[in-house]
Amino acid sequence: MTGRIVIVGGVAAGASAAAKARRTNEQAEIVVLESGPYMSYANCGLPYYLGGEIASRDALFVANPTRFHEYFRVDVRLNTKALSISANERKVEFVGADGVTGTLAYDRLILATGTVPIVPPISGLDGANVHYCRTVPDADAIMERLSHLLPREMEGGHFLNVKDAGFQALIIGGGYIGLECAEQFMRRGFRTTVVETQDQLMGSLDQEIAHPVQLELQDAGAIVVLNDSVASIEPMGNRSTAVLKSGRKVTFDIAVVGTGVRPNVQLAKSAGLSLGETGAIAVDAWQRTSDPAIFAAGDNCEAVFLPTGKPVNVPLAGPANKQGRIAGQNAALDLLGAKRDDPRRLAMRGVLGTAIVRVGKVVAGGTGLTGKMAKRAGIDVCSAYVIGPNHAGYYPDAKLMLLKLLYAPDSGRLLGAQAVGQDGVDKRLDVLATAIQGEMTVEDLEQLDLCYAPPFGSAKDVAVMAGFVAANAWRGTSPGASPLTVFAEMSGERPPFLVDVRTRREFEEGCLEAAVNIPLDEFRDRLAEIPTDRPVVLQCGTGYRSYVAQRILLNNGWTDVRNLYGGYGLSKRICSMVSGKLPL
Ligand SMILES: Cc1cc2nc3c(=O)[nH]c(=O)nc-3n(C[C@H](O)[C@H](O)[C@H](O)COP(=O)(O)OP(=O)(O)OC[C@H]3O[C@@H](n4cnc5c(N)ncnc54)[C@H](O)[C@@H]3O)c2cc1C
Repeated sequence: MTGRIVIVGGVAAGASAAAKARRTNEQAEIVVLESGPYMSYANCGLPYYLGGEIASRDALFVANPTRFHEYFRVDVRLNTKALSISANERKVEFVGADGVTGTLAYDRLILATGTVPIVPPISGLDGANVHYCRTVPDADAIMERLSHLLPREMEGGHFLNVKDAGFQALIIGGGYIGLECAEQFMRRGFRTTVVETQDQLMGSLDQEIAHPVQLELQDAGAIVVLNDSVASIEPMGNRSTAVLKSGRKVTFDIAVVGTGVRPNVQLAKSAGLSLGETGAIAVDAWQRTSDPAIFAAGDNCEAVFLPTGKPVNVPLAGPANKQGRIAGQNAALDLLGAKRDDPRRLAMRGVLGTAIVRVGKVVAGGTGLTGKMAKRAGIDVCSAYVIGPNHAGYYPDAKLMLLKLLYAPDSGRLLGAQAVGQDGVDKRLDVLATAIQGEMTVEDLEQLDLCYAPPFGSAKDVAVMAGFVAANAWRGTSPGASPLTVFAEMSGERPPFLVDVRTRREFEEGCLEAAVNIPLDEFRDRLAEIPTDRPVVLQCGTGYRSYVAQRILLNNGWTDVRNLYGGYGLSKRICSMVSGKLPL
């Protein structure tokens, strides 16, 4: 059986689906309908193009219809929008580049329609200098606006970045894309303000992981406004003024809206397809929708969240490409007459939502479950924190990172990881994503055999170290406590006795108010000062010396002794984040 595969959407999932379908089935007719003027371009690269880090616009294009036809004999129709689907007749109604409507019959249909932006209720949002950053035409519009502000270099014609020219950028929304745009406008020399409705940037991460990103932005001169939102935008000559809900005003030359996306399910609805509980298109592991002749792939559909087994909608490029590949293969196999259990069938196992962002020198990201997600879903988790270097501490330019692990209290299975630091955050997140996907436990993590030479890592890599710490806690040989837990206990009925085992000098330079200083060097001689009838929490700079002290106490008969994760460094950060001062 041969026939026609129609794919709606020609960027990440759609282009992957088309290429895979052709590699699977040489006979099928494959048609891609794409409503925009470009196919298969790097929307992930757009912010870097805006800031000039990606100098060439051409670099954004991964493929074009001519190349796609040459390589794959796929008929890509740009500026062609699918309007509706008649699932009974297996037909798509579309309007072409010439404005003429038509219908196209299909044997298999793949919906790769991506997302639509969430448009915040702001009056004046349609102003000339307010933009989205989602597509190449969006980026072109921003560059056009920049061309009225920035000078150009003589040769090459690229924009020259300016310093202190007084240009101002407003970023509405402090998620990944907003922050990538903020970084790039700052690179261009714009005074940048980020307005975010939540009490933290990067709402998809736990607050203590996201907070350094905010500090980095502020250190670089950005204004970060949290717990507030833009209510209206008023033009002011070539500039505009945003009035925030709080009454605060922000004048800007250019604004970018990055307030999130939702799955584009309009066509799916027209075909009567089932949507899942997330509002995205429900699919099985083979990317098949509730109609066996229609597949869906990418940001518009659900996937299984591996840590919980529940459906999620995660709009990220990695899953979109994989789902497209799977849908393409399975649709093409259908047309070859393959049975449902044909071994060539591909199936999507699930997603972790692994994501990362760089802002200036700081890199932050996560994979799998976060503390916030666990709390929302009522899932009982343990967390462990580790601070360690990206490579051997004695090798030049070692940079510390903070790693947070979440694992199941009963089995020790890894459920999530987040990290913030500079170099090497990406590598640890990828190792941990692999470990989580492989259903590894904290004890598996401590056994990982990772590459090591001083420029690249440590003999005890920070990811493995996180395994040591979490596994020690899980086995009960070194119970730990997060700063937030300890802070809460300090004002509770049975406040723990807090011992700081750093040197006197370190202690004098800054300490938690309630802490008693017993340096590790003197620890064994001063055990009598530590009560046996109260919980004890030990703390040092990052958690290692306090672990040694903890083992001394536990080996000497104390029973309720915990190590403060992340030590003074993390506690201080969390205090400044939570209340602006140390509550202890
Ligand atoms: C600025 C930016 C930066 C990003 N950075 C990252 C990153 O660093 N890492 C990461 O993992 N992800 C990132 N993403 C997300 C990633 O780009 C998306 O997850 C991915 O592109 C989704 O692919 P998709 O094919 O599902 O949807 P899309 O890429 O959105 O493609 C859907 C296409 O369908 C077309 N379409 C919709 N309806 C119709 C219709 N009725 N008829 C015809 N065509 C239609 C649209 O025009 C669109 O071109 C970023 C996204 C943006 C915008």
